[in-house]
Amino acid sequence: MAIEERVFIAGAGPVGLGAAANLVRHGVPVTVFEAGAALAEESRASTFHPPTLDMLEEFGAAAPLMAQGLVAPQFQYRTRAGVIATFDFAAIADATRHPFRVQSEQFKLTRILHERLCKLPDFRIEFGSRVAAVAQDNTAVHLTLDRDGSSERRSGRWLIGADGGRSDVRRALGVEFAGFTWPERFLVVSTPFDFRSAIADLASVSYLADPVRWHFLLEIPGLWRVMFPLAETVGDEEASSRAFAQALMAGVVPGLAHYEIAHTTLYKVHQRVARNFRIGRCFFAGDAAHLNNPLGGMGMNGGIHDAMNLTVRLAAVWNGAVPDAELDRYERQRRAVTLGYIETQSIANKRNLECANPGFDVELERTAADPQRTRDYLIRVAMIASLRRAAELG
Ligand SMILES: Cc1cc2nc3c(=O)[nH]c(=O)nc-3n(C[C@H](O)[C@H](O)[C@H](O)COP(=O)(O)OP(=O)(O)OC[C@H]3O[C@@H](n4cnc5c(N)ncnc54)[C@H](O)[C@@H]3O)c2cc1C
Repeated sequence: MAIEERVFIAGAGPVGLGAAANLVRHGVPVTVFEAGAALAEESRASTFHPPTLDMLEEFGAAAPLMAQGLVAPQFQYRTRAGVIATFDFAAIADATRHPFRVQSEQFKLTRILHERLCKLPDFRIEFGSRVAAVAQDNTAVHLTLDRDGSSERRSGRWLIGADGGRSDVRRALGVEFAGFTWPERFLVVSTPFDFRSAIADLASVSYLADPVRWHFLLEIPGLWRVMFPLAETVGDEEASSRAFAQALMAGVVPGLAHYEIAHTTLYKVHQRVARNFRIGRCFFAGDAAHLNNPLGGMGMNGGIHDAMNLTVRLAAVWNGAVPDAELDRYERQRRAVTLGYIETQSIANKRNLECANPGFDVELERTAADPQRTRDYLIRVAMIASLRRAAELG
């Protein structure tokens, strides 16, 4: 079978299309195989951190994303008694071109990237094409695509598995996805109710620590998303009902018992990292490589950071500027910071909200009161520290 002179990507999520955009920008022809009939439209991740915006700006995607999103310079921690600390990314304006978060659904980014990429001759996308099997040799990857029941073989030079948490590429290559699943699931309830009218000094991103029922409030254009943990004892059917969502929401603002609910999303939460991020000519990035709880908004952002780290190296290898061994740095750098930073920090964030780390509130107050500590903290939560650490790993 003829080998196509292209990089193949499985999955047209934010990570797959981000990888495609960076490869095409560097002159590398790309074909994306997407299992779905169209781009996903689910309400999922909605926070873009400062360095991710810096990366997206490189191929013109940051400005349209900001135009469709909401700029959030501040975030805060609260208890039911009031604000513990509010942080402003202005304190790290010398470390990023975007000293704020952008709150915008991930499907807006994939649409923006897809629309831009479709105008470029080096980009192709094939919908309804599930990567079902993967083989490789020293020069090529060989895919079996499942297209609505019929299968097709295709060969290309490299493969990026950006096909999400249940990655078929990871399974096909027999890579272990070590870690655990939290017993509780998370429920996200979206409402057009403006919480600012009911909660004093509320920032667009606000975490409420509580030993019984923590939650967080996150504003996106036209809606607020409220995320709650759910006990194992609540069945999926009950958890997905409007009555159950209303009962949870009634605990957010005292005296407010009924909300207009736009939608709810119930999902399982995992902390897992693939044993390998590279197997020969195949790579894993984004949810295919790692999963973490959403506290701190690091899953999609970390995935986009993977995509940029990998594709800049892959483009250099493609263009003959560096040897193939350069690609090993991808796994060395990104797997280490995934384990040492994204997994650790997201677990600590969850424990803090559960009030399981005694004194975390006093520590936060101290951090907010000290400019140098505030700066170090913001560099860490904005994920700039993880990128610096990855670069140091060589
Ligand atoms: C229900 C849900 C809610 C979430 N909510 C939040 C949240 O509130 N906050 C947050 O920070 N994060 C959230 N996340 C996580 C966040 O959405 C992910 O980190 C992010 O989507 C990762 O992007 P990705 O491109 O790696 O994978 P995905 O976005 O999952 O994209 C993978 C793509 O690959 C396609 N695909 C799958 N298998 C194949 C195959 N074999 N061949 C070809 N294509 C394939 C899929 O159709 C999909 O389009 C949520 C995740 C889920 C599942």
